[in-house]
Amino acid sequence: MTTQTAIVIGSGLGGLAAAIRLRTKGYRTILLEANEQLGGRASVFKRDGFTYDAGPTVVTAPHLFEELFRMAGRDPDDYYEMVPVDPYYRVEFPDGSHFDYVGEEERILAQIAEMSPGDVDGYRKLAQKSHDIFSVGYDELVDQPFHELGTMLRAVPDMMRLGSYRSVYSMVSSYIRDERLRQVFTFQPLLIGGNPFDASSIYLLIHWLERKWGVWFPKGGTNAMVAAMGRLLEDIGVEVHLNAPVERIAVTNGVVSAVHTEGGQTFDCDLIVSNADPSVVYTKLIAPEHRRVHTDRNVSRKRQSMSLFVAYFGSSKPYPDVRHHTIIMGPRYRGLLRDIFHKRVLADDFSLYLHRPGWTDPTLAPEGKDGFYVLSPVPNQKSGIDWSKEAEPYWQRILDSLEKSHLPGIKDNLEHSFHIDPRYFEGKLRSMDGAAFGIEPVLTQSAWFRYHNKSPDVGGLFFVGASVHPGAGMPGVLQTAAVVDKLVPTADDPLALPGKKEPRKSA
Ligand SMILES: Cc1cc2nc3c(=O)[nH]c(=O)nc-3n(C[C@H](O)[C@H](O)[C@H](O)COP(=O)(O)OP(=O)(O)OC[C@H]3O[C@@H](n4cnc5c(N)ncnc54)[C@H](O)[C@@H]3O)c2cc1C
Repeated sequence: MTTQTAIVIGSGLGGLAAAIRLRTKGYRTILLEANEQLGGRASVFKRDGFTYDAGPTVVTAPHLFEELFRMAGRDPDDYYEMVPVDPYYRVEFPDGSHFDYVGEEERILAQIAEMSPGDVDGYRKLAQKSHDIFSVGYDELVDQPFHELGTMLRAVPDMMRLGSYRSVYSMVSSYIRDERLRQVFTFQPLLIGGNPFDASSIYLLIHWLERKWGVWFPKGGTNAMVAAMGRLLEDIGVEVHLNAPVERIAVTNGVVSAVHTEGGQTFDCDLIVSNADPSVVYTKLIAPEHRRVHTDRNVSRKRQSMSLFVAYFGSSKPYPDVRHHTIIMGPRYRGLLRDIFHKRVLADDFSLYLHRPGWTDPTLAPEGKDGFYVLSPVPNQKSGIDWSKEAEPYWQRILDSLEKSHLPGIKDNLEHSFHIDPRYFEGKLRSMDGAAFGIEPVLTQSAWFRYHNKSPDVGGLFFVGASVHPGAGMPGVLQTAAVVDKLVPTADDPLALPGKKEPRKSA
């Protein structure tokens, strides 16, 4: 009897998906998570009867979750329930107008006709463009391993034809004239850490992805999805260790051989799939003599995405008119994004995303009350902003603004509030520069140029999660695990792993 052991470092959605896939391939699978709960960015905070999803709330491409349960021989309906969200988002503008971003073309066109009649035809063409980009960028490239240059070279002609060298904003502006509508169809890269003025127009595929598969919400919140995956891990026999931060990856003859945790435990292994940030893994967990490509210098040149300030708060009074997802555009768009991504300063103004899950699932707050989170993109830790001083005044400014606009009376009705900022991403989630979405999704850091799913430095080391191809966001990181699935042999094929002569004897 022989058993190949796979270790997954980190239990973000990419790590959970990888653990399910590795176990299904026959590996003894051990998941090591630094924190006290599963989920990474998709963790949960519970306070006074309120349930707050810490991070992702907009579920797109729900079949990618389903696929994992089915491949493990289980029925997803036994684990979780998804419900559709309508509208997908309400986008609000400083002039008092709003746009309900939905999936049906007629509803989109009717709103465009009212807001800017001259853009109706342009939207039809934009939708077709988004569809064309999706057909290549998603259907053909999203789950392709990009660690070989040849794969990239084969993709280049299509990417050039589709204008991937243009930014999302530039591409959308060539079809749409109204500035508000330009914002409606360009803010999506922000959901994966990209600046619409810099992110490649290949990310326009998100619009078609949302139209094709809709926007969903798991009953009980995204954390219910994480819990469902946790139950699945248990059911299929993945060993899960919480509070087990990995401090070092041991490399023997150029191939991974074990991991050591900060608590002093050692786990021998045949392969590792890391869901921890590759920038940190390469520079902190692997000794320099094992890194030919990812030297400290190489890693320091990567552009990390922006960070986030997120405040969670409960209200003793419900606000039933507030939609599930509201994007509140501030007075500046390009200028604000420049402040966040390029100048790295904390601006006086902000654009906000307000999450009110009670619109779709009232069980997340005690009866008659309402739970919210409000998110504001902010510069990452390269800014030098002292959040120990800035966080509370920043929250008070956001609260003042919500009181005046969307949540009148909220200050009097506030039951509690707490917030996270770039320190949380850097410290608790161990992300380079406190980036909220891994490395930034610009063309020069996409596909072959992104961190590879298979390490070029160390044999038997693979990566999933936001910083590897195809990138951040829930569909993105679930697909990173699908890519790794293609690269890892089944457990009964040990010789296919680099450096493996003899399978490890089971204990
Ligand atoms: C506030 C917020 C809102 C978002 N909203 C959306 C949304 O609505 N829709 C959407 O699709 N996406 C959204 N995203 C993006 C999405 O949440 C992320 O891209 C995705 O969840 C990241 O998953 P991941 O696999 O990269 O793992 P992560 O969530 O980054 O988890 C990595 C895990 O590795 C662990 N780890 C790190 N180092 C070690 C170590 N040394 N040892 C052991 N464990 C370690 C960490 O503790 C963590 O649990 C949002 C993100 C944030 C922050």
